[in-house]
Amino acid sequence: MENNVANMEELKKRLLDMRTDVLNEVNHNAEFSKEIGTDGVQDIGDVSANTYNRQILLSLNDGQRVILQEIDDALDRIEGGEYGNCIDCGDPIGEKRLVVRPQAKYCIDCKTEIEKGERP
Ligand SMILES: [Zn+2]
Repeated sequence: MENNVANMEELKKRLLDMRTDVLNEVNHNAEFSKEIGTDGVQDIGDVSANTYNRQILLSLNDGQRVILQEIDDALDRIEGGEYGNCIDCGDPIGEKRLVVRPQAKYCIDCKTEIEKGERP
């Protein structure tokens, strides 16, 4: 399947930024609990790609966990050369849609059907 996403690097950067934002939110919460908790807490500010401190995963709420998963899936698809195509029908998702939602994995048609409950 040919990949026709022109600004892939830009979208990849956006995805990485989004992931950093989510993790920063979590770090902020961890910072707060450190103040009221014990000392000697490990520095969790240094999170390398695709490796999450267990503590961070535990402090994610459901929404954050879902979006991190979506972002990581999108980054995986970039690495695998599948990014930009619908994981259901294989059609191009479309750059406009990807710019709005870089982690999108369905084209608008499939997404609409899924949301209408016409597909599992
Ligand atoms: Zn589709």
